[in-house]
Amino acid sequence: MKEVDQVTQMPDFKGYISDLGGPSANMYKMKGKVQEICDRCVAPSCIHPVVCSNLDTSHKPMTELYRKVDAHPEVKKAFVGSGIRYDLLVDDYNKKNDGSLDEYLEQVVTCHVSGRLKVAPEHTSDATLRMMRKPSFKHFHAFKKKYDEINKKNGLDQPLIPYFISSHPASTAEEMANLAAETKDMGFRLEQVQDFTPTPMTVATVAYYTGLHPYTLRPVYTARTAKEKKQQHMFFFWHKRENYQQIKDKLTGLGREDLIEKLLEDKKRHAKREKIKGRVQARRKGKPGRKKRR
Ligand code: SF4
Repeated sequence: MKEVDQVTQMPDFKGYISDLGGPSANMYKMKGKVQEICDRCVAPSCIHPVVCSNLDTSHKPMTELYRKVDAHPEVKKAFVGSGIRYDLLVDDYNKKNDGSLDEYLEQVVTCHVSGRLKVAPEHTSDATLRMMRKPSFKHFHAFKKKYDEINKKNGLDQPLIPYFISSHPASTAEEMANLAAETKDMGFRLEQVQDFTPTPMTVATVAYYTGLHPYTLRPVYTARTAKEKKQQHMFFFWHKRENYQQIKDKLTGLGREDLIEKLLEDKKRHAKREKIKGRVQARRKGKPGRKKRR
């Protein structure tokens, strides 16, 4: 709250806080319940592959802080701009829902979303997500359902904007094609996307440089060449005309004709194309096609 006070004193402050930040937005004050257990712990993550039973994941302190900020006389609106660790809000993943998780999400949705909420599922492939120390994409579906329900209940229309990465170690072109098909199926047209950038101290970076998983020493595929990277990245933009042929060729090469239909052959578009083809053929045969508009 001291920081909020300071921000509100700034000469150009107009009443809006663009990002009520925090560790991953919603991990404020999370720590081990019994410190002695943490002191002996060697686990590389407290929330992957499962949420540690010793971790206090209550979202109450965060919700209370948001409410205090809302009640500040100088603040008109405060938004959450940092990525929310959405998996902690899904009951199937974080089994310690004491009510504070739902209360937090309701607070975010009703008071702190600036039109759209950014979240980072990062990939849909379990193998790639494991490398990132992130849970299965099925939990993103569960989160979206919860998020959409709260919006609907409150008469709000605030789309989720998911963020994804291509060419992450363990991600293949086929998995990118699956990512494109699954997110298309969910109604997304992706815009928050990025190519993998190695960052220090991560399993993925070690795999990127050595080609091996540092824990198992098994080989890990990584797209490295500009061509491989481009082939992964283009799947985000299946809807762009310039990617149509390349995606079609790549999927044919992978033997994934099923995805050609899913990604590229929208029934409506296909019907339109067939109609145009029919007209062109009719004209060539000298039959009257549809008259040109003048
Ligand atoms: S994994 Fe559990 S025991 Fe280990 S540091 Fe995290 S909270 Fe503590």
